Amino acid sequence: MTATEILGTRRVRGGRERARVVVIGGGYGGQLAAQSLARRTDATVTLVNDGDRFVQRVRLHQVASGQPIDAPRFADLLGGTGVRFLDDRATGIDLAAHRVSLRDGGALDYDVLVYALGSHTPIPEHAHDVSTTAGAARLGERLRDARTGRVAVVGGGLTGLETATEIAEAFPRLTTTLVTDGALGADLSGRGAAHVRRVCARLGVRLLEHASVVAVRPDGLTLADGADEPADVVVWTAGFAVGDLAARAGLAVDARGRALVDATLRSSSHPDVVAIGDAAAAVGSDGSVVRMACATAMPAAQHGARTVAAVLAGSEPRPWGFRYAVRCISLGRRDGLLQVVHGDDRPRDLVLTGRGAARVKEAICVNALRVQTHPRIPTSA
Ligand SMILES: Cc1cc2nc3c(=O)[nH]c(=O)nc-3n(C[C@H](O)[C@H](O)[C@H](O)COP(=O)(O)OP(=O)(O)OC[C@H]3O[C@@H](n4cnc5c(N)ncnc54)[C@H](O)[C@@H]3O)c2cc1C
Repeated sequence: MTATEILGTRRVRGGRERARVVVIGGGYGGQLAAQSLARRTDATVTLVNDGDRFVQRVRLHQVASGQPIDAPRFADLLGGTGVRFLDDRATGIDLAAHRVSLRDGGALDYDVLVYALGSHTPIPEHAHDVSTTAGAARLGERLRDARTGRVAVVGGGLTGLETATEIAEAFPRLTTTLVTDGALGADLSGRGAAHVRRVCARLGVRLLEHASVVAVRPDGLTLADGADEPADVVVWTAGFAVGDLAARAGLAVDARGRALVDATLRSSSHPDVVAIGDAAAAVGSDGSVVRMACATAMPAAQHGARTVAAVLAGSEPRPWGFRYAVRCISLGRRDGLLQVVHGDDRPRDLVLTGRGAARVKEAICVNALRVQTHPRIPTSA
């Protein structure tokens, strides 16, 4: 369906026009918000995503190691919900005119906009990434071609750790090194950090800690102390960034370009915009900005939908009040770590490890997809 056709279908119900909600970005946050809005309101809900399939980003390191994953079509996920789907790219927002312009030349008018454009990993030349399906698939081909050789995974966060262990398990003939500028597992409990180190040792993942990468070359890395770290394949996982659409439009943003929101997830400069997921700087119950994570994007989507429903009903939206519960990390397909955390994300001395943790992590990933069509399932972690 084209944007013009959608605008032409705005209907009148009971003598008043239905409100128009446009959701841009169909990731864990935007797709779930669109589903929730269709159930909670009688607005016309339009979801715009640049691609016709839902991407399970939390499984992209599996794609890189050659495992097929489900990528359901939005047409199937949204079937029967009344949400209109548009495979297009949002290229601009006119906040005064309440209009989103699209790559195909069309435009969508909105009464409320849900901004959910997510994030990506900016990568240096000669490096690979696992932050998009195309990037992960390219890396997978490169790893299969390499057969033997050295892989350097740069970034000691959760994505780097999941990627390095997945590659080491799937490609045992490659030598995998995890390069981090800090100490691996510094933000885990002592037991959690000890477990990830044990698993890295078992899988043959070499650790290069307190090593800051200043350049990626075709044949490896240059470190801040001048040392060379040879590598045939470099995977860059050091940090997510957001696009500049919000900033270009004139929405209030933080230094990283994420939309600033109030406690109800409405833009602090334009309250007819609700921002969720990686593209928003939402604050949890402890007062700090929540991590860019599926574990925060989905609860934000459900709350954002409640906020929109309240605004459309003319009532006062409620604050989000997000609290963390657990961090769940895959360490290959047969091991994992569940790190129980305080509401503010500080680790508690409580972990589940091994096959049990791998099974729980798999169940969480399955549930993250299931919630996309059952938006009332709670998603607190
Ligand atoms: C390998 C990997 C493993 C991860 N593991 C975990 C994990 O275990 N737990 C966890 O909590 N998080 C994990 N994450 C992070 C998690 O995937 C993200 O935080 C989450 O996807 C954010 O959801 P989102 O809806 O904000 O954005 P996204 O999922 O990034 O979705 C944004 C969508 O918007 C679309 N889009 C972007 N720009 C435009 C535009 N201009 N017009 C139209 N559409 C657009 C994109 O194509 C995309 O479909 C992982 C990430 C990676 C890469």
